[in-house]
Amino acid sequence: MEMKNTDILIVGTGASGLFAALHIPENLQVLMITKGQVKESDSFLAQGGICVLRDEEDYDSFMEDTLKAGHYENRRESVDIMIRSSRNVIRELIEYGVDFARKDGELDYTREGCHSKPRILFHEDITGEEITSKLLKAVQALPNVEILEQVTMLDMIEKENTCLGIIAKTEEGEHLGIQARYTIFATGGIGGLYRHSTNYPHLTGDALAVAMRHGVELEHIDYIQIHPTTLYSQKPGRRFLISESVRGEGAKLYNAKGERFANEVLPRDLLTAKIQEQMKKDGKPYVWLDMTVLGEKVILNHFPHIYERCLEEGYDVTKDWIPVVPAQHYFMGGIHVDSSSKTTMEHLYAVGETSCNGVHGANRLASNSLLESLVFAQRAAQDIGEKWQSEGEQEKDFAELLQKTEKCICKQEKNLADTYKQEVLGEIERERQAK
Ligand SMILES: Cc1cc2nc3c(=O)[nH]c(=O)nc-3n(C[C@H](O)[C@H](O)[C@H](O)COP(=O)(O)OP(=O)(O)OC[C@H]3O[C@@H](n4cnc5c(N)ncnc54)[C@H](O)[C@@H]3O)c2cc1C
Repeated sequence: MEMKNTDILIVGTGASGLFAALHIPENLQVLMITKGQVKESDSFLAQGGICVLRDEEDYDSFMEDTLKAGHYENRRESVDIMIRSSRNVIRELIEYGVDFARKDGELDYTREGCHSKPRILFHEDITGEEITSKLLKAVQALPNVEILEQVTMLDMIEKENTCLGIIAKTEEGEHLGIQARYTIFATGGIGGLYRHSTNYPHLTGDALAVAMRHGVELEHIDYIQIHPTTLYSQKPGRRFLISESVRGEGAKLYNAKGERFANEVLPRDLLTAKIQEQMKKDGKPYVWLDMTVLGEKVILNHFPHIYERCLEEGYDVTKDWIPVVPAQHYFMGGIHVDSSSKTTMEHLYAVGETSCNGVHGANRLASNSLLESLVFAQRAAQDIGEKWQSEGEQEKDFAELLQKTEKCICKQEKNLADTYKQEVLGEIERERQAK
């Protein structure tokens, strides 16, 4: 089996993994792996935008909007960290070349459901692509970072509750042992576990299954957000999201009789329930969304990609209503972490959607996730940078432990992906039943 040795291993190359890499001290070697190609992450799919604290006067309102959307189950300390860090993160993104929309030279802000004020920065309706591609470019320019594509983490190598690295599988089907002083899980959400999801299908919560097997604490694993409006299609595969900001800007929902049945800017969970109830009443697998009220100019300027994608499906949103249906979208729960993104295992961190730092509580406020991912990824990197000085030698038993793990994995490998899937779904169900 091939072996690699690195200072820091980051599993996942979405926004959270990339931002962590950018904040690791440059004298440390970083190895990043991703299950797919570098551009195949949900971070590239984000449409609506990224929140920011506009000014001090917005603090209480931003906090209250986040807590209210999260049903007051949020960790207040984490929300405070996110809000307070937001302006620096945005400044940094602009320095990396992220081109947020501007009006008369000043940053322009949009609003989405449950935000009492416009505080969301955006780039057309492809904010995620704009941010993540610029972060990727910056990481690719770093001499201390190597990225391996099509390499999948299979399991963790651990001794006495200390993470020593992982075992992975390459595109060629070979095993690869990676020893690392610190490991960061940045493996994204769990949409791949569901039939209808806006996520990439390869995002199947692998890090959760691995964490569970090694006794790493999880939190709120049953808190899963369903997005109320994705484009209805009979075709299998990822569902196309019709961003919340479309409704924030004034698009209306109608039932089969062409009557309005809900307040379009309700929190996502409440609106999803209304739509599902209406679909049942109508006996249809969708309800209608009317974007025509926004006018052609707003649609073409602010939502050009939604316009084009709907055209591909045969709908001209400047003239036609489109059928929409709720789909799995976001995972609020995850691997429990503290405010430095450290898990309950030594030398193991988790960031982004796969982690739970408590920011989102029971329900995520729109456009808080990219911000949360970046803020807490940076904190993980800083914590590692600080701890690095005081830590001792690397564990010498790694090779032996790796071989043992490989033997175990070999026995299950054929069905490993399916086993992990069942383990995660089973845990979600157990947590639900326990409430
Ligand atoms: C359609 C859509 C629209 C969205 N719109 C917004 C928005 O407007 N604003 C907002 O704030 N948020 C939005 N979100 C949510 C946001 O995009 C995500 O929460 C965020 O990007 C997650 O980033 P991440 O780095 O945690 O994970 P991701 O970007 O999903 O990256 C996960 C990485 O982990 C890798 N990986 C997974 N498993 C393994 C494994 N076993 N081995 C190796 N690698 C692995 C993947 O290949 C990938 O590189 C949206 C999400 C979707 C799907």
